Amino acid sequence: MIHDLSETICAPATALGGGLAVIRISGSLAPQIAERLLGKRLTPREATTAGLRIDGQLIDLVVATYFAAPHSYTGEEVVELSCHASPYIVRSILEWIAQQEGCRMADPGEFTRRALAHGKLDLAEAEAVADLIAATTATQHKMAMEQHTGRLSHLLNELRATLLRFAGLLELELDFSEEDVAFADRSTLVETLATIQHQLRLLTQSFSTGQELQQGIPTAIIGAPNVGKSSLLNALLQHERAIVSDIPGTTRDTVEGRLTIRGTLFRLIDTAGLRQTTDLVEQLGIERSYQQISSARLILWVIAPPLPTWDELEAQLSEILRLTSPESTLMLLLNKRDLLTEREVTDWLSNCSSLLQRTNGKPHTTSPLAISARAAQGIETLEELMVTSTQTLHSDEETVMLYNLRHYEALTKASRALELVSEGLHNGLTSDLITPYLREAIEEIGLVTGASITSDEVLGFIFSHFCIGK
Ligand code: GDP
Ligand code: ZN
Repeated sequence: MIHDLSETICAPATALGGGLAVIRISGSLAPQIAERLLGKRLTPREATTAGLRIDGQLIDLVVATYFAAPHSYTGEEVVELSCHASPYIVRSILEWIAQQEGCRMADPGEFTRRALAHGKLDLAEAEAVADLIAATTATQHKMAMEQHTGRLSHLLNELRATLLRFAGLLELELDFSEEDVAFADRSTLVETLATIQHQLRLLTQSFSTGQELQQGIPTAIIGAPNVGKSSLLNALLQHERAIVSDIPGTTRDTVEGRLTIRGTLFRLIDTAGLRQTTDLVEQLGIERSYQQISSARLILWVIAPPLPTWDELEAQLSEILRLTSPESTLMLLLNKRDLLTEREVTDWLSNCSSLLQRTNGKPHTTSPLAISARAAQGIETLEELMVTSTQTLHSDEETVMLYNLRHYEALTKASRALELVSEGLHNGLTSDLITPYLREAIEEIGLVTGASITSDEVLGFIFSHFCIGK
């Protein structure tokens, strides 16, 4: 698909439903089109109320806003018509505009694509528009907003500029190689390179966290059979759903579920349980839960009466330590508290506290908590704990979070290329052998922001994920 910027494009900028609809027109013909529909000339940045007529027939009373180029979203002449959201009105107006000479309906994401073409935003900022629209939680919104306002682009532009200078120096050295002059001071180069590699590494490492925040923080519910793992999963899911709507308490045995607690998305996994078995099928289930446990960020370890002996508890803990990542957070939950006296609860909690100290912070632990999954007791406190213990994942204002796979892949390739550069410098290779890798790294970084030439095909793919009208 060839993107002809000379055509004027139009599309509904709002989804169906609601009282009003906005029709966006972008391109050199936009002001004339509007003048013909409204019988009035528009003044830039002024909202104009007018009757909209097609073939003399009054279709609607609309509010029109004219953004003169280049001070518009696309950087082109833009008119936005705010009309009543009747499908008939919207369709009539769009069909009429699309029939005019030099006009057509916009493809998904085409307005943003034009904004990119006119330098109103770069590629990473443009991609974030789609993410911003798709964001359903506060965290997703925050990550998309940061990328949209250029934090990632800014960092990458700096890295790229440094690498370009670096490449320039190396090439100078290349030119003078006959006289055997090492023009660029290699130790400075090595240092600069190390700094850049470090920054790239921070970014690529943030990808897994970024993905987790985007798709839900992996949370494994583990414990012996019958302690109430499934009941806990359902209690958490129902508690959150109850806030949204009153779904009658259906007791489904979910194995996995997502829920948002105060803006943070969690992906809960009910695992097969901790126990030794000789049964092959059960063994497979357990293998699978082991994998899920090792990649979980949060571990909800459930115990319940009849309470395990101290030895059993120790054995479970060492199993957990063996399986979990030291980066995760372990929460011990004493379930079925309704079956225990206050005294028993207090004793057990203090026993568990001292047991948990053995982890030495690897994984992190929180204070043990007594709950009742069946009576939905302590669920709110648990949720509170889940949110605060994952806060560190995204409260760091300094680091830019990578969550887009395309960006991750490009920056991983850049990192690999820079490793070869670094090796080359270390082994005293001449610049002509090093420069190609440096160029590759620069190119890959530029792919993220769109600074490197990006083919029409690649752009088409990226923008195909957009909705119409953006
Ligand atoms: P799982 O095998 O660990 O998934 O355990 P389930 O969630 O299937 O629960 C096992 C049994 O414990 C069921 O009969 C539940 O109703 C019961 N149960 C779960 N939570 C509680 C609780 O808080 N109090 C009491 N008394 N029973 C519970
Ligand atoms: Zn279960």
